[in-house]
Amino acid sequence: MKPNNKRKFSFIETTAEKLGLIKKLRNNGNFAEIPRLTEPDKLTNYPPPEKWNDWEEYESKKWPNKVKKKYFIVPTTCFNCEAACGLLTYVDKETLEVRKFEGNPYHPASRGRNCAKGPATINQLKDVDRILYPLKRVGKRGEGRWERVSWDSVLDDIAGRIRKAMNENRHNEIVYHVGRPGHEGYMERVLQSWGIDGHNSHTNICSAGARFGYAIWQGYDRPSPDYANADFILLISSHLETGHYFNPHAQRIIEAKMRGAKIAVMDPRLSNTASMADYWMPTYPGTEPAVLLSMAKVMLDEGLYNREFIHDWVNWQDYKPTFEDFINELKSEYSKFTPEFAEKESGVPAETIVNTARLIGRAGSRFSCHTWRSAASGNLGGWQVSRCIHFLSVLTGSVGTYGGTLPSSWNKFKPKFFDIPPAQKFWNELSWPIEYPLTHYEMSHLLPHFLKEGRGKLDVYFTRVFNPVWTYPDGFTWIEALTDESKIGLHIALTPTWNETAYYADYVLPMGHASERHDINSYETHAGVWIAFRQPVMREVAKRMGKNVKFTYEVNPGEVWEEDEFWIELSWRIDPDGSLGIKRHFKSPYRKGEKITVDEYYQYIFENVPGLTEISKKENLTPLEYMRKYGTFEVEKNVYEKHKRALTQKEMEGTSVDPKTNLVLKDGKTIGVVINGKAVEGFPTPSRRQEFFSKTMIEWGWSEYTLPGYIKSHIHSDEMDRDKGDFCLVPTFRLPTLIHTRSGNAKWLVEIAHRNPVWIHTSDAERLGLKNGDLVRVNTDIGYFIDKVWVTEGMRPGVIACSHHIGRWRRTQDQANNRWATNLVNIEQIEKGKWKMRLIQQITPFKSGDNDTERIFWQDGGVHQNITFPVHPDPISGMHCWHQKVRVEKPRPEDKYGDVFVDTNRSFHIYKEWVNMTRPPKGDLRRPMWMNRPLKPVPEAYRIQKSEVRSQNKNLCLHSEFYIVYFYVYLLTCSTDKF
Ligand code: SF4
Repeated sequence: MKPNNKRKFSFIETTAEKLGLIKKLRNNGNFAEIPRLTEPDKLTNYPPPEKWNDWEEYESKKWPNKVKKKYFIVPTTCFNCEAACGLLTYVDKETLEVRKFEGNPYHPASRGRNCAKGPATINQLKDVDRILYPLKRVGKRGEGRWERVSWDSVLDDIAGRIRKAMNENRHNEIVYHVGRPGHEGYMERVLQSWGIDGHNSHTNICSAGARFGYAIWQGYDRPSPDYANADFILLISSHLETGHYFNPHAQRIIEAKMRGAKIAVMDPRLSNTASMADYWMPTYPGTEPAVLLSMAKVMLDEGLYNREFIHDWVNWQDYKPTFEDFINELKSEYSKFTPEFAEKESGVPAETIVNTARLIGRAGSRFSCHTWRSAASGNLGGWQVSRCIHFLSVLTGSVGTYGGTLPSSWNKFKPKFFDIPPAQKFWNELSWPIEYPLTHYEMSHLLPHFLKEGRGKLDVYFTRVFNPVWTYPDGFTWIEALTDESKIGLHIALTPTWNETAYYADYVLPMGHASERHDINSYETHAGVWIAFRQPVMREVAKRMGKNVKFTYEVNPGEVWEEDEFWIELSWRIDPDGSLGIKRHFKSPYRKGEKITVDEYYQYIFENVPGLTEISKKENLTPLEYMRKYGTFEVEKNVYEKHKRALTQKEMEGTSVDPKTNLVLKDGKTIGVVINGKAVEGFPTPSRRQEFFSKTMIEWGWSEYTLPGYIKSHIHSDEMDRDKGDFCLVPTFRLPTLIHTRSGNAKWLVEIAHRNPVWIHTSDAERLGLKNGDLVRVNTDIGYFIDKVWVTEGMRPGVIACSHHIGRWRRTQDQANNRWATNLVNIEQIEKGKWKMRLIQQITPFKSGDNDTERIFWQDGGVHQNITFPVHPDPISGMHCWHQKVRVEKPRPEDKYGDVFVDTNRSFHIYKEWVNMTRPPKGDLRRPMWMNRPLKPVPEAYRIQKSEVRSQNKNLCLHSEFYIVYFYVYLLTCSTDKF
């Protein structure tokens, strides 16, 4: 089809043309023809790879003149969320400037498409407030004064400090704390080579709740829904616009919808996802398990379950003597979850619950579902949300099926490393405290409280793309810990951008954005396995131009480096003579005795990816060259039902089969199970089946939760005094264009979203006498924040919500940074533990090398709400339960927009209250051996030393004894049932 070059011009354009204010728009009645570089109809295609070395486009800024520009196109991956979508970087061949990012069509998950945050990477590269050089603090920590230092001095100083700590046997004082991960085992290998138990993460403020619910069923702690092939999709939360892996997932959810699949969404907020659903179920927060169990009841009562799957793959034998007994027991156990009961709890009409349950039952093995963060991370007992949603997968037999929900590990590639250090001998109690044997994973949100109560100290503390002062609950307690040098000896912030935690560092070390660093990525975005390569694109450009680069900072802006090389150099300097046994883990597999290079590290991994060498050879490339050229490789397509994989003859050598359990045993470990006469892999649980009945829960003191169930949340309606203005605050929702700290420095994204008002239902607003835009004081258990309200029908009555991706700040003494999004604030400790924050200045335009900074039209930078929340560690999963019981009132005379007040004495008190809800192990193990944990130490480290049991846990142990007695009584009851 010929393009239509005739165009009507507006009155303004015509007048401007006549006045000579703009160039001639017309050429003999038609506007000037622009010759095409590509054929018509080809415009939507991506540049073909054979032209990636010399791609030609017209220069957009020269329009309407026709000026051609030549580009190198280099693939990398996005670093703005966990999905790692493919990006193509356009580098101007003349100026060697990165001009833009577009999607990489070869990436199997993102398939050439990105969300807004992908192309906005260019904003981060060109951010006028970037940190370009390593900085060292001058004066007191947090004072805001810095000096530029060399990488050499940084490495020597940190290495010397770590070496000293190791020589003095203070290994547990060295900790690496990661916010945004995404390098598939790189850092774990480094820490293990150092022999320390020093990995800490953000999991417990993110996904620990969901993980535990999945893990207790099947060992795997994440789901991988095969959305594209599903007939019915059940989503808890807003997976279309903000979910985990949301661009790859959103594509596949919409594909299913276009094919005719039905979608149901549970969310108290009318999110974009809920608005696209066939069924929106605005559940009262925390009541999701009641609804899910009610669906299970309907499916059981109406025979809408998969007998064969349940018979073969559920551990019913651990619970009841016959399968029929088991089914009857299921019906009886869940009989109380009537749709009417679920309606009363959740507010979702009973009829909707029944209808969706029937559709789920009928979808059978093509029922796909997902919960992540959201309800599982908001509520006390939130882990039962994922446990109950997975129960529906089990009932329908959709575990691991085409169109079902797969375990994540089946769809994730595990790289093979050139060297695997031995497991560490230490157990770090500051990350894995004795009170939380089942936690998934490190109790990172309790770290400042642990330091406060003297459980230990940190000598070298790395924070990596990690901003707990702003992202975590109880940020003022973090500030107290970070400013106390007796608790944290040296704080090193590895970060591409300034953030509220980096203000309290000793070193701020600039690390690259997406196109300035190496990482490999592999995620469970669909029923396949892929790897992608994040690479520093200017390094590849230099190579194409025939230049040698030793370190990535030579080609990045300023002296921005990357972590891979930083850790190699640091490790080498910690152990200069090799006596600590560290250096040997950083020697080249290709050049004897020499230090490994980053190229060699990835060369080894890519040479060991099945199928990659063969495909590379076809293009006369090495696997590394292939990955540098295309940026991605599909390892496996259509991965389903791996639990049915028959054990190989080699695997079966030296095994025995337990006649009672049918477990296949080798060297004292279970490696599979015999199902219908065939030895297969099964699931990584003690029974090798799906564990409906959890012996683990009994053995670790929680026998009341042996089955999927419903725990009333800490923000249940019963807890609310509505007349006094009590609400459940949902503080967890994401804005589609922002991700925590990561996306803050992107001007396009902040332009789209820069406020976080409190969503409130019309009826609630009316009751409280509030209009759109009015100020409110939102009182939490430890303080308050002053925000505006947004009155909407899109919120469930009785619940309010506020996004936590806005409300960034800087103080007057801090370096100018992220001025698109940060309010200038004053922070004052008015008396010990009582902290007050007040806005000095909102967002304002400013002069810089980027003209857009003078075009900022918004002033409102939002309010920092997370800092007003106490920690709420779930006693089992360890998850921080984000939802808050708040009291909403009209502002007092002294209140101003953006005010924040917190009493950290009170937050310490609440921390103690929640810790007292746990049950530490009674036996001599710290944690079930079968459960995952990052960086598993040697088995002996799992053993509890008697001296380690703290006096403050004595009463908790007594508590635990009660449950052991309870357990035996319970077992007795079970046996009576059996015989
Ligand atoms: S979903 Fe968006 S932010 Fe996340 S990796 Fe993909 S493009 Fe980047």
